[in-house]
Amino acid sequence: MSYPFKEDVTIQFSHESLVKHINNRMESLPDSRLSGPNTRYEMSDAGLSAFSVFFMQSPSFLQQQRLMHKQRGINNVNTLFGTHKVPSDNQIRNLMDTVPPDHFYPIYRQIFSDLNQTGYFESFKVLDKQLLIAFDGTDYFSSKSIHCKCCSTKEQKNGDIHYSHTAVTPVILSPNQSQVIPLVPEFVTPQDGSNKQDCEIKASTRWVDRESDQFDHQEITVLGDDLYCHEPFCQHILGKNWNFIFVCKPTSHQTVYEHIEGLSTLGKVHHFKEKQWTGKETHDHHYRFLNDVPIKDGEGALSVNWCEITTTNESGDIIYKNSFATNHWLTKENVIDIITAGRARWKIENENNNTLKTKGYNLKHNFGHGKAMLSSTLATLNILSFLIHTVLEHFDERYRLVRQELGARKTFFDDIRALTRYICFDSWHHLLETMMEGLEIPIPTS
Ligand SMILES: [Zn+2]
Repeated sequence: MSYPFKEDVTIQFSHESLVKHINNRMESLPDSRLSGPNTRYEMSDAGLSAFSVFFMQSPSFLQQQRLMHKQRGINNVNTLFGTHKVPSDNQIRNLMDTVPPDHFYPIYRQIFSDLNQTGYFESFKVLDKQLLIAFDGTDYFSSKSIHCKCCSTKEQKNGDIHYSHTAVTPVILSPNQSQVIPLVPEFVTPQDGSNKQDCEIKASTRWVDRESDQFDHQEITVLGDDLYCHEPFCQHILGKNWNFIFVCKPTSHQTVYEHIEGLSTLGKVHHFKEKQWTGKETHDHHYRFLNDVPIKDGEGALSVNWCEITTTNESGDIIYKNSFATNHWLTKENVIDIITAGRARWKIENENNNTLKTKGYNLKHNFGHGKAMLSSTLATLNILSFLIHTVLEHFDERYRLVRQELGARKTFFDDIRALTRYICFDSWHHLLETMMEGLEIPIPTS
C-alpha cells in the first residue's frame, strides 16, 4: 500500500515494505560464513524472528508460532515477517551474536530520509524552522555475573565487577507533537584503542560525528539534560553549526549562577511573569533570562545564554522550576518558546526510553545476553520496532483506525498477541482487517 504525500513523492510506509528492508539488511551481511543460500536464509530468519518478538511485544511469540507450525504446518512468523522457518532460540542467539548493531542503522536513516521527504517533520519544527533532537542515555541491562565483550564494567567497593549496558537514544521530538521519532542509537561500550571507559557524552559525540551529515540543510537544536551542558560538548554542537538548549543546574554550574546572582542584585537580569489558567487554578510562570554568561570559570570560556522558569500555584508553592543554557540569543519574545522546547525533552524518557526498558525489552531470558554483540543488536532491533510502529501509526490508515478504537497501546498489543496465537494471518493487512471487522470499523477502500 502506498501513500502519496506530495505529488512527486510516493513512499512505501507499509508493514510489508519495512519488514522487507530488514530482510534485505540481513541478507546483505558481509559474513564469511554466508557460503551458500541456506546460510543466507538462516541469517535472515534469525534476524526477522528476533525482530518479530519486539514488533509483537510478545516474549512467547516464537514459542507459540513453533507450536502452531507443529500442529498445522503454518505460522505467523512466516506469513507476517517472511521467514522461511523459525529458528530455535539457540540458533537465533548464536547467529545474532555475530551481527553488529550498526548493520541495521541504514534502515533508521532510510526511514528518516523518507519521512523527511514527505514533509512529515514540518509540523515538528519550532523556533523558526528548528528541528529538535533530544539526547538521553538509558541503562537497559545490569548484572553481576552475565557479561559480554560490549559490557561496561564498574568495580564495586567490595571488589565485585558490575556489568551494564547503556545506549544513547536520540529522538526527534516537538512540543507540538505526541509522537517521537527514534534515530540511530549509539552504545556506550569499550572502544577499540582506548583504555578509558566509554561514557554517555563520548557516545553522544561519536553519534554527532557519524550522523550529522544526514541533517544537511536542516536547522538543528539539540536538547539534553544537565550532563550535556558541558563546554566541550556545547562546542562540538556549535562546530556542526547546530544549536543547543541544555538543562543548566546551579549545583553543576556554579560560575553561571554566581554571574547571574551578581547581575541580579544590580537589576540586570531580565524577568517577567505570566499567568496561566489551567482549567482548575491559576499558575504564575516567572521567567528570568540573561544573555552572554560564561559557562565555566577561566579565560576564553564559552559564553551561553541562560533562562529559567519558576511556576507557582495559587498558594504560592513552587510546582516547577528549571533552567537552561542555550546558544540561541534570548529576548522577551522568544524565551518562552526556548523554555518550551527545552522542556519537551521529557518526552524522550517517557515515550522512547520507557518503551525500550519496559515495553518489550524484558527478553534477555529468552535470548540470553550473548558473548559479543547480541545484547546491543537486540536493543537496536527493539528501538527499530518502536520506530516502525510509530511510522505505521501515522501512515497506515488501518493501523491508525484500530489503535484509535482500542485506545490504550496495551490493549492493541494484547489483542494482537491473542489473535496471532490462535489464527494464522496471510498478512499484516489481513490481521488489521480482521480486527476492524470485529470492532465494526468500516474498512477503507484504498
Ligand atoms: Zn554485555
